[in-house]
Amino acid sequence: MRFVTLIRVYQGRTRESLRLCLFDVARSFSQLHSQYQPERPSFGIAFDIDGVILRGRTPIGGSPQALRKLYADSGTLKIPFLFLTNGGGIPESKRASELSKLLGVNILPSQVVQGHSPFRSLVNRYENELVIAVGKGEPAAVMSEYGFKNVLSIDDYSSYFCNIDPLSRYKSWAIKQEVNKNSTSKEVTRRCNVLSDRVQAAFVVSDSVDWSRDIQVLCDILTTGGLPGTERSNHQPPLYFANDDLEYQAEFPSERLGMGAFRIALEAVFNRIHHSTLEYTSFGKPNPSVFKNAEEILRLQLSSYCNYQIVNNGNTGSHPFKTLYMIGDNPSVDIKGAKQAGHPWFSILTRTGVFKGKENHPEFPADLVVDTVQEAVDYILENECAS
Ligand SMILES: [Mg+2]
Repeated sequence: MRFVTLIRVYQGRTRESLRLCLFDVARSFSQLHSQYQPERPSFGIAFDIDGVILRGRTPIGGSPQALRKLYADSGTLKIPFLFLTNGGGIPESKRASELSKLLGVNILPSQVVQGHSPFRSLVNRYENELVIAVGKGEPAAVMSEYGFKNVLSIDDYSSYFCNIDPLSRYKSWAIKQEVNKNSTSKEVTRRCNVLSDRVQAAFVVSDSVDWSRDIQVLCDILTTGGLPGTERSNHQPPLYFANDDLEYQAEFPSERLGMGAFRIALEAVFNRIHHSTLEYTSFGKPNPSVFKNAEEILRLQLSSYCNYQIVNNGNTGSHPFKTLYMIGDNPSVDIKGAKQAGHPWFSILTRTGVFKGKENHPEFPADLVVDTVQEAVDYILENECAS
């Protein structure tokens, strides 16, 4: 099979993330060129993580073996692929290094797209504004790495307001764990007066750890125009969620409540205590923009890998890929998203996570249903004659 040798890119593609991505993969693949020039693959793969590759921190479904098939014996990447997860809470660089250790292959930060990765596109708007980051892990570190200069985690932010959470004395973890303010947090509080500056936006980066405290403090921020303890206001600071997953598969046998469940709880409470309804924006799968972004990242991998000439003539109509495979466990997130994204996406549903049915899912049927990710990769490689 022959392929178009010119890859056309958007003239306006100047986003820093894509530039870094291109640099990253180009450096990674440069060694490969010096050794041999393989035939250019006509396909790419996007893997969901939770319920497909890992359960908690345990690899499942033969994922390490499946991923190894995408690399040459030398350890360099053979087939373009990335992880497309709605999860997060740590910077992409850290997640890539964790995945590399767990799966035994070298994952680049540019191959990790998390639910909150699109928050990077909002840096221009909030770079120097006081913003709050909610969720497990290191939500403020994630936002700082994206370029937000005045971001505080909701843990740090709440600690400046005495008695903002009347239940904190009953929370053993809150009593034991006095908030240890890091240097970034101290820098922010040198630039901002947390007790008088209004919060300009709240970002739910990852799953809330303390729903009661977070719902309370977010309602305080969102109903007062950004300053807890002051009068109610008609202005609601913008609220962003990294995803809207109702449930996800973790280590427990049945699904766990996700960020979508937290959003429903927050929205229900906010709408009861405030005269206007909650306004918010959700990112993550199944939004078509997530799949468009993944397609661009894979295209950059491919162009670097095969050293094809990139021309800036603004023509975005050509597809270097015959097929892009989305392998996921959640019909309403992974499969629905791939379906909505249309050509060239092909959806594969595994039975290792949220979906456990014998047949296809009735509402969001996948193009293919398999037991494990290993089976999915074997099918792809066989189908593409690349194994
Ligand atoms: Mg999943």
